[in-house]
Amino acid sequence: MTKTDLLERLANSAVDVDRCGKWPHEQIDWLNEAGVMKSVIPAEYGGNELDSEAMTHEYHDLAKACLTTCFILTQRNGACQRIASSPFPEVREALLPSLVSGQHFATVGISHLTTSRQYLKTPPVQVEMSNDEVTLNGQIPWVTGASAADWIVTGGTCSDGQQVLVAVPANHEGVEVQPFVQLMALTASETTSVKLENVTVPRSLLIAGPTESVLSSGSGGAGSVTTSTLALGVISRMVEVIEDQSSRREELVETAELLKGEYSVLKKDLFALVSPSDRDQPANATAEIRRRCNSLVLRMTQAALTMTKGAGYVKGHPVELAIREAMFFLVWSCPANVAQGVLNELTCREVSFS
Ligand SMILES: Cc1cc2nc3c(=O)[nH]c(=O)nc-3n(C[C@H](O)[C@H](O)[C@H](O)COP(=O)(O)OP(=O)(O)OC[C@H]3O[C@@H](n4cnc5c(N)ncnc54)[C@H](O)[C@@H]3O)c2cc1C
Repeated sequence: MTKTDLLERLANSAVDVDRCGKWPHEQIDWLNEAGVMKSVIPAEYGGNELDSEAMTHEYHDLAKACLTTCFILTQRNGACQRIASSPFPEVREALLPSLVSGQHFATVGISHLTTSRQYLKTPPVQVEMSNDEVTLNGQIPWVTGASAADWIVTGGTCSDGQQVLVAVPANHEGVEVQPFVQLMALTASETTSVKLENVTVPRSLLIAGPTESVLSSGSGGAGSVTTSTLALGVISRMVEVIEDQSSRREELVETAELLKGEYSVLKKDLFALVSPSDRDQPANATAEIRRRCNSLVLRMTQAALTMTKGAGYVKGHPVELAIREAMFFLVWSCPANVAQGVLNELTCREVSFS
């Protein structure tokens, strides 16, 4: 299947995916057929790794077509990227070939090491290490597609405060996937928490650590460019809606032009972050892009609703779906400085962003 066919099929089925609220098996098969599952896996394991600019284009287009499917892909890719960048060849060689072929599916449950449950005194997942085994106990708060996954890439904290990342077989004794939750949008991602009770895996499944802040190296951390790119994809979908509305109603033209202009500038600035020729970005550039994406995805979807009026408010209308999807960016992988930027805007507080 070509990527153009893939995007068309995903866009045509996006409202149904939302309505069914069940794991999108067919859409995941299409990703495999179009070769998209190879995009983050190095060639030596059978992949066809894209550079970050090409990957960003891919995520933008996929999120524009179907946010749920694209989001599932980011979690699966996050797991594959963590494995591929492991310093331990054993885990790379054991897992990557079956992930690239689509025979196995992996997902990631690591937010408790970055943005989730940070206020708890006891780490949500505790780890004990021996010479040849790793034992995990606790609760992974968020795992997308846990019931569809063969592997869960997760992490935990040892008694000395050091952290590890490890690949856990989803059907391993002691792993209990909870029923998936009903969400405002993206319910079909079958996101849930996973209980770990004395889950002991061989040390050969260790991906990283033990070390302090095990997620500080590697791609795709909280509030990464990928998260902003998915918001940009939803914005881009709404640009088409406001273009269509303004082509038929003269009074909407000026507003539509302003919003389209903001989208173009934001897209240019986001792609500058991943361009190989534009590496000199300020330290807070990634968070600032995410704040701008959050702001525009909220305003763009609401502008589209205002323009499509009551029709856009009806369940199953693409604007109604996009409004609910926009809320996801207020909670998903949203680090404290980005959240504060959103709250500043919502309270009309003028604070320079840092
Ligand atoms: C649909 C969806 C899918 C996701 N998929 C994944 C995934 O596949 N993998 C993954 O790793 N992550 C995933 N995440 C997690 C996500 O990236 C964020 O980490 C998560 O949304 C943060 O929310 P939280 O409720 O866990 O935050 P928390 O900080 O744990 O807050 C939860 C609640 O605790 C209370 N609270 C917060 N701070 C304090 C405090 N200081 N003192 C007292 N109480 C406090 C508040 O009442 C808050 O509502 C997903 C999230 C969503 C919504």
